Amino acid sequence: MTTTTKTLYELPFTGVKEYKMFINNQWVESASGETFDSVNPFTGEVWAKAPKGEKEDIDLAVKAAKAAFETGEWSKVNGAGRAALLRKLGDLIGENAEILAISEVVDNGKLIREMLGQTKSLSGWCYYFAGLADKIHGESIPVDIPNMINYTVREPLGVVGAIIPWNSPLLLTLFKLGPALAAGNTMVIKPSEVTPASLLELAKLIEEAGFPPGVVNIVTGFGHTAGDALAKHPDVRKIAFTGSSATGKLIVKNSAEHFARVSLELGGKSPNIIFEDANLPNAVNGVLAGIFAASGQTCMAGSRVLVQDSIYDEFVKRLVERTSQIRLGNPLDMETEMGTVAFEGQHQKVLKYIEIGKQEGATVLYGGKRPTTPELKNGFFVEPTIFGDVRNDMRIAQEEIFGPVVCIIRFKDEADALEIANDTEFGLAAAVWTIDVQRAHRLASKINAGTVWINNYRKVSYASPFGGFKASGIGRENGMQAVHEYTQIKSIWIDM
Ligand code: NAD
Repeated sequence: MTTTTKTLYELPFTGVKEYKMFINNQWVESASGETFDSVNPFTGEVWAKAPKGEKEDIDLAVKAAKAAFETGEWSKVNGAGRAALLRKLGDLIGENAEILAISEVVDNGKLIREMLGQTKSLSGWCYYFAGLADKIHGESIPVDIPNMINYTVREPLGVVGAIIPWNSPLLLTLFKLGPALAAGNTMVIKPSEVTPASLLELAKLIEEAGFPPGVVNIVTGFGHTAGDALAKHPDVRKIAFTGSSATGKLIVKNSAEHFARVSLELGGKSPNIIFEDANLPNAVNGVLAGIFAASGQTCMAGSRVLVQDSIYDEFVKRLVERTSQIRLGNPLDMETEMGTVAFEGQHQKVLKYIEIGKQEGATVLYGGKRPTTPELKNGFFVEPTIFGDVRNDMRIAQEEIFGPVVCIIRFKDEADALEIANDTEFGLAAAVWTIDVQRAHRLASKINAGTVWINNYRKVSYASPFGGFKASGIGRENGMQAVHEYTQIKSIWIDM
């Protein structure tokens, strides 16, 4: 008997899919009846349409979420009940991992080989936060006032607005949905206008899991209309935002009008620091995974690679050789190792930064162009690009490119590496490659970033807090800390 392994995945339909959005457990069009297109970045063709939700639609969704929180069925569901619903959602995500993965690949050009693994892992977010849903408690406080008992409880906030970027819609939604629902909040989620589909596929599973009406609402639409209305809505008690630092600033200003809490997961320009004593093959792998996964479109991309002088030439030689072997192709093909960037505007932005890098005097050591082979010519591809001779004050080393472009920067010694690593407005992540354990700990404590990896890159878990320093954000996602960020403390006094 022969077994065949599937290598090319396909959408389970032909033609252009017309999605509806999900408000109060109803599948609805936008109030205006208008839609917008989602373009497959591999073919350049429209593959789906989604409702163009605007203020009116956000108002309806927030009203449903508020009613669900205050008086609806959800307001009577306890921690164990919320856990059961989250677990059911986790099961359904596992069973439907393939369609979730395919819809995100066709929306944003990420690799099916990465997305199949990622969508299966999303169940873990549901199970982990289900496990915390009935363990959210306050404390008994020994106050020094006679005859008084004081204790605290942690209560949910109310309606949470989640605003999601295009680079990883499902994962970044689960970062928010898991803790928000575990704590008893309700949600209005606005996906990016570039990638509406995978979250609408997720909404089908939310409905099937049996969440009561209004608990999770998904309104598709643009940032300056639907996103703006959500951030400004007076009944939204928290905005959980992932996206660019520029939009993050606006969100803070707008949510301040009604004192909503914010958590912001923003951009990065993360240093990946390679010392002369590092295991070089491992470090090269870490650099490749750090920058070329998802075509460099990850907030935690290791886009600045700091290499010690003494191993610079050898390291660069190995990196270029490995990069030249990366197979670009159809993101739905399991053999493809790098896909497209997500949309035309991003494609132009990345190519523009490559020109800026050349003008600034950096040397293109590999790549630097749009590939022209027949299979790739319609897609928004950019060759994996390595810039050498980069100075840290160049724009390509300071600004987030969000594409498959890596800057290699030399350093002399540990102090030099630390100075360069911290010389950035961002502070999302960093990695240090060395076998010197004392140096590893010294740098981990001195680098200004929310995550530091030692001899690895890109590890993320639902159990470990993730978030940024400086312009990379405010607040933390994942772990028990995340649940606390979706609660408020009430202090209760009893006169005995
Ligand atoms: P973006 O800021 O352009 O958009 C993010 C979301 O905000 C989208 O849903 C968009 O519609 C919405 N939006 C835009 N303008 C708005 C406004 N005025 N009011 C309310 N909402 C508005 O970001 P993007 O281009 O979609 O995503 C890429 C950025 O996201 C990068 O900077 C990347 O580093 C960052 N990111 C950060 C993390 C993290 O965890 N730190 C993870 C992924 C992506």
